[in-house]
Amino acid sequence: MQIITAGDLVYRLAVFVGITSSYDLQIVSKEEWGAMKPVEIDPMPNPVPYVIIHHSYIPPACNTSSECVEAMQWMQDFHMNTHGWNDIGYHFAVGGDGKAYEGRGWSAVGAHAPLYNNRSIGICIIGDWTTELPPIKQLNTVHNLINFGVESGYIRPEYILHGHRQVRSGTECPGDRLFEEIKSWPHFSNEVDVVSNKTGKKA
Ligand SMILES: [Zn+2]
Repeated sequence: MQIITAGDLVYRLAVFVGITSSYDLQIVSKEEWGAMKPVEIDPMPNPVPYVIIHHSYIPPACNTSSECVEAMQWMQDFHMNTHGWNDIGYHFAVGGDGKAYEGRGWSAVGAHAPLYNNRSIGICIIGDWTTELPPIKQLNTVHNLINFGVESGYIRPEYILHGHRQVRSGTECPGDRLFEEIKSWPHFSNEVDVVSNKTGKKA
């Protein structure tokens, strides 16, 4: 007979909710933040070649987990009930509490950057980063999430990272200050895939 100790149980729960020791990365599942069910899920093939960085602009930065949960619920409601999308647009959002919140997840087509929705992971850094930089804790979580995605086979090791404004004209997303910051990140590229932009399937 196997005896499960309280310590085991805590460990198992930790694994279940996605806490990984190697990255200090906590992914909050949709169930945990009280998401509505998506209307429809379009499967997306992995690994994807792109990572697209966004800011939320609205809602503003969240600093506690309850504020971040509220921000997630607000965005999902806005995307589904105002825009009429199938689900929250982003694949993930990262809060000022240092947690990554699951949106569409790793393997569903998103709604965050036309022409890239079916071949990228769209990550929203919750807050308005026009003049300020997000806290280090929040940025570290974005790096950990991307690295975890690469090691788990969801993102190609040679992925290309862009800010939203590079792949869609008319948006200042992810904010001037954050956009300057991501220019120094691994895999950032100024070269936008113009050919695929013209011929890519709009999702
Ligand atoms: Zn954006």
